[in-house]
Parts: sequence; C-alpha cells; structure tokens
Amino acid sequence: MKFDSKNKLISFSPQLAILWYSIIASVLSAGLITFVVLYIESQEQAHIDRVTQSVANGVKTLLEKDIRKQITSLSELAHLYAAPLSTSPSQIADDDWAMISHALSDTDYGYQVITWFDKAYKIRKITPVKTKQSTSDFDVALRSPVHLSAIKEKINSGAGLIIAVNSNQGDLGLGIFIPIYKNTKTSQELELGIGSILLLNTYINKVLPSYLLVEHQLTIFIDDKKIYSDGTDDSMIDSTWNKQASFEFLEQTWRIEMAPESEFLSQTHFRMMKTLMLLGVLLSVFFGLAVCSALFAVNQANKIRCDRKKMKQLLNNLPGMAYQALNKTNWPMIFVSDGCEKLTGYTKLEFEQYNILWGSIIHPDDYERVCQTINNAIKLKNVFEIEYRILTKEKSIKFVWEKGESISSSHTNDFILEGFITDITSIKQVEFDLIDSDAFSNTIVNSVVEAVITIDQRGMIKSFNDAAQKMFGYTFDEIKDQAIKILMPKYYNDKHDDYLSHYIKTNQIHIIGTGRELVAQRKDGEVFPIHISVSEFKNHENRMFVGVIRDITQQRASQEQRRLHTEQLAHADRLNSLGEMAAGMAHEINQPLTAISLYSQTAKNFCKNNQFEKLPSIFEKISQHSRRAGAVLESVQIMTRQGERLKEVVNCKLLIDEVIKLAELEARLYDIKIVPIVANKNIKLVVDRVQIQQVILNLLRNAMEAMQSIGCKNGSTITLTESLKTDGFIEITIADTGCGLAEKMIEKLFTPFSSTKNNGTGIGLSISKRIIEEHNGQINFIPNKPSGAIFLFTLPVHDEGNLDDKFNDK
Ligand code: ADP
Repeated sequence: MKFDSKNKLISFSPQLAILWYSIIASVLSAGLITFVVLYIESQEQAHIDRVTQSVANGVKTLLEKDIRKQITSLSELAHLYAAPLSTSPSQIADDDWAMISHALSDTDYGYQVITWFDKAYKIRKITPVKTKQSTSDFDVALRSPVHLSAIKEKINSGAGLIIAVNSNQGDLGLGIFIPIYKNTKTSQELELGIGSILLLNTYINKVLPSYLLVEHQLTIFIDDKKIYSDGTDDSMIDSTWNKQASFEFLEQTWRIEMAPESEFLSQTHFRMMKTLMLLGVLLSVFFGLAVCSALFAVNQANKIRCDRKKMKQLLNNLPGMAYQALNKTNWPMIFVSDGCEKLTGYTKLEFEQYNILWGSIIHPDDYERVCQTINNAIKLKNVFEIEYRILTKEKSIKFVWEKGESISSSHTNDFILEGFITDITSIKQVEFDLIDSDAFSNTIVNSVVEAVITIDQRGMIKSFNDAAQKMFGYTFDEIKDQAIKILMPKYYNDKHDDYLSHYIKTNQIHIIGTGRELVAQRKDGEVFPIHISVSEFKNHENRMFVGVIRDITQQRASQEQRRLHTEQLAHADRLNSLGEMAAGMAHEINQPLTAISLYSQTAKNFCKNNQFEKLPSIFEKISQHSRRAGAVLESVQIMTRQGERLKEVVNCKLLIDEVIKLAELEARLYDIKIVPIVANKNIKLVVDRVQIQQVILNLLRNAMEAMQSIGCKNGSTITLTESLKTDGFIEITIADTGCGLAEKMIEKLFTPFSSTKNNGTGIGLSISKRIIEEHNGQINFIPNKPSGAIFLFTLPVHDEGNLDDKFNDK
C-alpha cells in the first residue's frame, strides 16, 4: 500500500487489493447467507406456528360444533322419546330401541352407541353398533362404580355431562349423557337419562378432515384431563411447537392441543438443510470463483509486471522517446522514457520535473504548425503524425517524427497526450540528397532532345520527360501509370505485354539492350517511325525499363525520298535506254527492211515481165539485208544483256535476312510484316548475290503493292519461305494476301512491258525470270488461297552445310 502525497490517494498493490476484496466479499457473503438462513428459519417457524394454531382453531371449531350438535339432537330426541321410555322401558322391543336410537344418531357410521339408563342409573339398553366393539364392552365400562358415581354426581347438578369412558378393551370413548327430569313442584327428579358414547378414534377421524391431522398430533383435554391423544411423541406436546385452542361447554373446559409431528418438523428441517446445502454449494462456488479470480489476478499482475519490465526495456532500446504529457501550453511531460537524453540532451528528470518543457525546444519556425496539428487531432480525437525540428541542449537542430494521440487521464478529467518521438535527421538528410539528385537527373533528362520514358515491369509508365510529352502529345499527368502500349500502334500494342512478360520470365533479349527502329503512335493517332533503345535498371526490388526514343520521321522521309528518287532515275534510265535502243533499232532495222521491201517490189516486177533470170541476184540481196537486220537485233540483245557478273558462295539465310532488312523499311510504312521461315540455316548457293536479292526484293515489293492496293484487308503478313528440295535445289516462295493476279496478266506474266500499274514498267518479272534462268533455276506463280499470289523460284544448292559451320556461331 502506498500513500501518494501528490494525488492524496492511498493505493494498494494489486495482490493486496485482491486479498482485501476477497476477504470483504467472503465476510459479506457469509453475513448474507447467515441472514438468509435465519430469516428462512424464522419464517419457517412462524409459518409452522401459524399453521399449527390454525389447525388447532379449526379442530376446536369443528369439535365444538359437532359436540353441540350431538347434545342438541340428543336432548331433543330424549325429550321426544322420554315418555315411552319412562313408562315401560323394559317393554321396549329391540327393534323399537333400534329405531329410536337410530333416530337419535346415525349409528351406521359405527362410532356411536346410544344408551339409556333409568333413574337408578341402571343401564337399560345399549344400541348395538356395527363396530368391532361389542355392546357389552361399554355396558360393562359404564357400569363401573367410578363412572356411575361420576355420572350421578354431574347429572344431578346440571343439564348434561360429558365424560371420558374406556371400553373393556381399552378403547377411548366419550360419553355424553343427557338427564330427563320428572317435573315436580318441589324438585327435579331424574326420570331417565340418554347417553351417547362416541368411539373417540373413529369419531375424531370422522368429524375432523384428515388433512388437519396429517402432520399434527391432536390432544384433547376436558377440565385438564386428557381424554384423547393421537400422537406418540409426548415431547412435542410440551414444546413451544404446541398450540392450543379451547372452548367452554356444559361447564367444562375443552382444550385442544396441536403439535406438529416430529416427522413433519424433520421434513421441514430437511428442506431447510437442503436450502442450507444449496447455499453452501453456492458459497463454495463463490469462493472457488473468488480464489480462481484471485489466482488469475495474481497471474495477470505478474504478467503486467513482466510486461512493464519488457516495455521499459523496449522503450529504452527504442531509437527515440515515449512520452506522456499534459495538454497544456508547451506540453509539460508527466513521463518520458530514457531515450529523451539521447534525443534532446536533456535528462528524464529535467522533463518530468517540468524544468524543460517540450514546446520550448521545438524550432520556432515549426512551433505554430505543431500546435495546430496537435490541437486538430485532439479536437477530432485522431492520432496525429508530424515531422518537425527541435533544438537540442547543444543547440544543434534535429529533425524528429512524432506520433501521438490524446487520451483521458485516469486521475483527472483532463486529456493527456501520449506518443513517441524519434530522430529522423539522417533520413531527412538522405531525402534532401535524393530530392537534390532527383532534381539534377530530372534537369538532365528533360534537357535531352530524345524522349525518355520509364516503365515498371508491368509496363506502366513511371516517368515521361519533356521531350516525350512534346513527341507524343500527352502530359505526364495524363500518361502517368498508364500502360506503355498506349504509345504504340495496334499491331505492336497487342504484342507488347507478351514481349515484356516473356523477357521478365526468360531474360531473352528482343529489344532490351539493343537499339531498334519501330513505329509509335501520337495522342492524335498519327503513326510515326522511331528509333528506340531500352535498358533495364533496378529500383529497390522492382525491375524498371528506361527507353530513349528518337523520332525518325524526318530521317525516314529523306530516305524514302532518296529511294524514290533513285527508283525514278532507274526507271527513267531504263525507259531512256529503251527509247534510245528502240530508236537505234528502228533506224538500223529500217534500212535493211526498206531495202528488202524495194528488192521484193523489183522481184515482183521481174516476175511480171518474165525476167526470171534476174531473180537469184535479187533474192541474194534480200537475204543479205535480212542477215543485216538479224545482226542488228543480235547486237541489241548483246547490248541489253548485262555482262557476266561475279558469282560467289553465299549463305542463303544471310542473303534472305539482308533482303528482309532492306524491304522492312518500306513494309513498316504500310504496317506490313515480313515473316521469314528458314528450314535450314546452313544452305550455301553460288549466285550473283545482288541479282538474287534484286529478284527477291522485286517479288516482295510486288507483294506489298498488291496488299496495299486492297488496304491489307486480308491480312498484313508476307511469308518468305526457304525449303530444301530433294533434287539438289532450294525453293524460295513469297506468299502474300494481296489482290491476286489480274486475269489478263496471267497469260503474259514474265513478258516484258506487261503491267497493270499506272507507273509500272512491266519488266520486273521478265528481268527476274532471266536472272533466275541464268542461275539455272526456274520461276513460277501460283494463286494463294483464299486470296493473294505466291511467286516461287528454285536455285541449285552448292552446299547443304553442317552444324559446325562458322556461320552458325555468328
Ligand atoms: P510492274 O511491277 O512494274 O508492273 P512487274 O513485271 O514486276 O512490273 O509485274 C508485272 C505485273 O504483274 C504487275 O503489273 C502486276 O499486275 C502483276 N503482279 C506481279 N506481282 C504480283 C503480285 N504479287 N500480285 C498481283 N499481281 C502481281
């Protein structure tokens, strides 16, 4: 127990308090139980007394009433039958007597006999009753001198008499005797008497309801003489349980005494014992519970002590201080943990004795903000969290983080603040450094002309520099946390998630780590070519990707311009040389033809004139000029045929890859994809690389143009397949899903100057055919299903290659 002078309170240790509470509870419960027992007992006793008294009163009333009735009817009937009885009593026949006595009383019940005696008190007749007692039993009893003298004495002096009589067999009987006097002038002379003898046991049981007698002993006294008792336990009669009721009759005092049966009492007692036992059980349970709760409380107290110890240790080990402060100006500290000294330089005592108030060490610039935050939290009953600066004892500035809440004090009605304050100076420093370095890198990133975009491993945009915003037309706020595929046209858009998850799973590089040309899509839907290089970095545990994107629309446009220009030049060149060639040919051939025509005309005239002898020389001339025309054509053919070019051993796959790269630039513009399917990577051919590539490029261009002409509605993929045939040839097929070959073209395919295009020359396929045939191969066409065209050509294989070929390692 402690006396707390400050709070004027006496406080107990928890164990002592529990002990006191248990003792007080036990005394109170014992007192309560005693009171209850005494109360129940007194109530029970009063109840038994009341019941016994009312039973006595009831018995008294019933007996008095019945005895009076007996006397009345006996007197009335005695007077009625007095005359006949007195005149010749001996003459009364048994039947008459039976009738008279039956009229006097209902002897059938078997507890009553009627008798009459003469003036000499001689019993003249006794009604035989249908009981076990014989008439003579009472007859003899009545004849006893004691009875007779008593009867004589009493009857002479009064109107009637009631006495106890015993039968020969010892049965108790009650005799009621009524005298009938002969009226003389001088005195009353007894003429005869009528008596009724009641067999008490039977009579009492008949007159009194059995429930009155069940639990009680009845004793009847007349003039203090006990005439009847149905109990065996006399001790009860003399006890305080015994209750009395009395009445006066025929100058005799009847006293009825009732006492509860000892069995009944013991039953009541048993009930009481049961109640007591129940109370005892309750008391035991109560005590058991009290002991349990006391033990539990002791355990709890130990646990609390242990927890407190741990808590203290924990608080001391925490990198900061826990506190309890009064919610007053500058928050005087009621309690601070030991960490306060390390945090502020001030000791625990300095705070707890209010020498230093917490508010006084808060940095003046932060003070208002701290007050506001704490007051708001108190008002809203919220937890508050705040960062601010404090000035330590050494006058250095520290950043602290505080989390607290207001709680109501257990001693007073005021609120107190409870919370924790920790030093976050180093974290703040790192934060500032980070902000600085972030600002620095942001400045760099925003100053570059390329778009720099960062995404996380789910493809969500995390940064988007100024150049990116300008390039794509989105602001950072619009695009932040959106999927990167928003910046791609539909084709790449669908594939992007697969690429990214495939890379994350397998680390297999597609674009990561390499630069690539792709197409992108601006906010307004415009698709434009880009060069992108992607690298990966780790941000905490997350994989991030940064892409540097350059818009190459300009570059691509000038490339295309150059290509078109070159093509146009080549086309014009071809047309020019064709034109020149045609003019030359016309000139060269015209001459021999004119000559042939002239000689033919002359020959015709010679024939008309029958000058046949001149014909041979004419024909000779015609033949000469024909040969000359042939020679001219041969020289043109020699001129148009390109000179024998250098054939070399080339890897077929490499050759195809190179052509696809050339064609892809154009394909991307149309949003067309070229898919190579190469069965054997090591096949080698001896070909003029440039010419074969020219053939493939020409076929790819035709395919793209055919697909473009119908807006790629049947698909946007061209398949280029290389397969090894069994006859020592490879077959290369280019299958598109374009418009297919026009009906009229099928017949004259591979014929020079056949074209369906506005600006087509119609010599691409014929040149291709010549090149392939010069390489000992064949070129062909078949329609594609369901739409489009397939061009296929064969070339002889030089070497099928093997796996350890150097090319494989490249
Ligand atoms: P040009 O392409 O200059 O017309 P070509 O000799 O290459 O000359 O082609 C001749 C014609 O053959 C084309 O005009 C076109 O009608 C038809 N053609 C060639 N390739 C295809 C193709 N893949 N699909 C449909 N038609 C084609």
